[in-house]
Amino acid sequence: MIVGLTGGIGSGKSTVAAMFGELGVPVFIADLEARKLLEEDESVKEKVRDLLGDSAFVDNLPDRRYIASVVFDNKTLLDALNAIIHPAVAQRFQLWYSRQQSPYVIYEAAILFEHGGQAKCDQVILVTAPKEIRISRVIKRDGVSRQEVLARMENQWPEEQKIPLADYVIENIDLEETLRIVKKIHCFYVKN
Ligand code: ADP
Repeated sequence: MIVGLTGGIGSGKSTVAAMFGELGVPVFIADLEARKLLEEDESVKEKVRDLLGDSAFVDNLPDRRYIASVVFDNKTLLDALNAIIHPAVAQRFQLWYSRQQSPYVIYEAAILFEHGGQAKCDQVILVTAPKEIRISRVIKRDGVSRQEVLARMENQWPEEQKIPLADYVIENIDLEETLRIVKKIHCFYVKN
């Protein structure tokens, strides 16, 4: 069984994914795999170079700051970049998934519903937190400005749009409470 785990930036989705990981559940982190592809996969790099130009890479390694600055206020380029990266991540996931033996796996992705990714999942867990809390978490975590956080949020759906599509919604405010809910969901998945 594939359980999608999603949530807007700063919701605590990676924190929740780590909790499932601690319980022994295999976790595939889509954003991390996308990053690896940009670093290692020559065919992906070639396509990104064609799209964004040579400045996207320095010494054959992706210049993530440059790439982010170019795509985050340009929806057309962002979509084009995603169209290169997403199929490659999906392929990597399939290979990884075919090797897993656990009753279920977690597929963690910041963007899931936005491109219909729930269709590939048997269940979807959504992590939420109030917007102001999310903003202050990200400012603290990444050392970025409020404006930068808001710009990143604009490429993600608002929580109200995602909540009705999720099987479970974890409101992540108190970490102990979150862990309690994670354990409950885990028990349910293992038993069913
Ligand atoms: P996401 O992956 O959704 O962007 P993270 O899991 O990285 O979010 O969480 C954002 C930041 O907030 C991290 O520094 C994390 O340690 C912190 N954090 C996550 N959940 C909580 C919580 N319930 N209480 C306090 N800090 C939290």
